[in-house]
Amino acid sequence: MHDSNAGEFLKFANVKKTYDQKTLVVKDFSLHVKQGEFVTLLGPSGSGKTTVLMMLAGFENVTSGSITVEGRSITQTAPYKRNIGVVFQHYALFPHMTVAQNLAYPLKVRRMPKAQVKQRVDRYLELIELEQFGNRYPAQLSGGQRQRVALARALIFEPTLVLMDEPLGALDKKLREQMQFEITRLHKQLGFTVIYVTHDQAEALTMSSRIAVFNKGVVQQYATPDDLYERPANAFVASFIGENNLIPASSPALAAERLTASLECGAAVTARNGDCDSTDTECVISVRPEKLAIAAQGHAYDNQVFATFIARHYVGDFIRYYFALSGGSHLAVKTLNDTKAPDFTEGQSTVLGWMAKDCFAFKTSTYTPQGKQR
Ligand code: ADP
Ligand code: MG
Repeated sequence: MHDSNAGEFLKFANVKKTYDQKTLVVKDFSLHVKQGEFVTLLGPSGSGKTTVLMMLAGFENVTSGSITVEGRSITQTAPYKRNIGVVFQHYALFPHMTVAQNLAYPLKVRRMPKAQVKQRVDRYLELIELEQFGNRYPAQLSGGQRQRVALARALIFEPTLVLMDEPLGALDKKLREQMQFEITRLHKQLGFTVIYVTHDQAEALTMSSRIAVFNKGVVQQYATPDDLYERPANAFVASFIGENNLIPASSPALAAERLTASLECGAAVTARNGDCDSTDTECVISVRPEKLAIAAQGHAYDNQVFATFIARHYVGDFIRYYFALSGGSHLAVKTLNDTKAPDFTEGQSTVLGWMAKDCFAFKTSTYTPQGKQR
């Protein structure tokens, strides 16, 4: 193995997929995953995430390109020989089998001796904290308990690679957060590699070591949660991860890593250059609501604009304001709910300020308002 491949466990190289021989639903997918990583494919519905997992599990053919695990191609390997654990949103347990029988099933298929099966099942019941539930049937469990059993059943034969496709999608918010915690605990404890699929960005940010942001069959950025949030590669990622104000601007002028452009309201702003080049005549400026300061006049902000107050929403731990710029752009501002959070009357004007280091300029081509799907 070459040095450059050290630690590379799973590798997709130029994988393409079409179902109808006409449109590519996965256009050109390349991704490297290290052993023990928790990698999430995050993207809007229909962006090709499930298709990628299906090809990895062997339930769908690869149209072209290769998938290798530890340097060996698996594209010709039958699904059951890939030794991959799989959890789906609605991966039904066998209803006529008890919890213990469900857990024993993958071991029996693999011809594990009986005494060992019993030991292993007990251990996994303990791991998912359902020691007392071995004799129950799936119908006698809550949704969360059923999903923990499905998780244990995917892990019990100790696969090195585990795929999860929106496994928590059917659970309510509180249970989903508990299960996120549970899955990351088991991942740390057992050390398997995870490819996780979700369209929920908060879930991806809290659970993953790296995230591949998907849109229209193409990876837009593959990075750690912090990098995605703090250094989005393009306008799609900036609008999809967290919250961002995206303001149209024109005549971008590049200077080293920075760029200056004009907003519709006439103000000139300076931003870090995201992905613009000298051919761009338009761009979008992105700045997060928590980076904007209200009543900024007289302070040393790189960028300052006049804005008109529209609304103030009380959210509890923070307050969200909406302002309009002349030219029509709307900006959201988030401030902590403390004694300094100001109040305005509708139509009152103020100055909003922010630092150049806290905003980016991006090409308009990857930005569509639909990029905001959650
Ligand atoms: P995601 O999981 O990101 O929502 P999918 O991989 O399920 O996306 O779907 C990507 C695209 O491929 C969609 O346009 C979907 O309609 C299409 N697609 C998915 N599965 C099939 C299939 N079995 N046959 C034909 N088209 C499919
Ligand atoms: Mg899907």
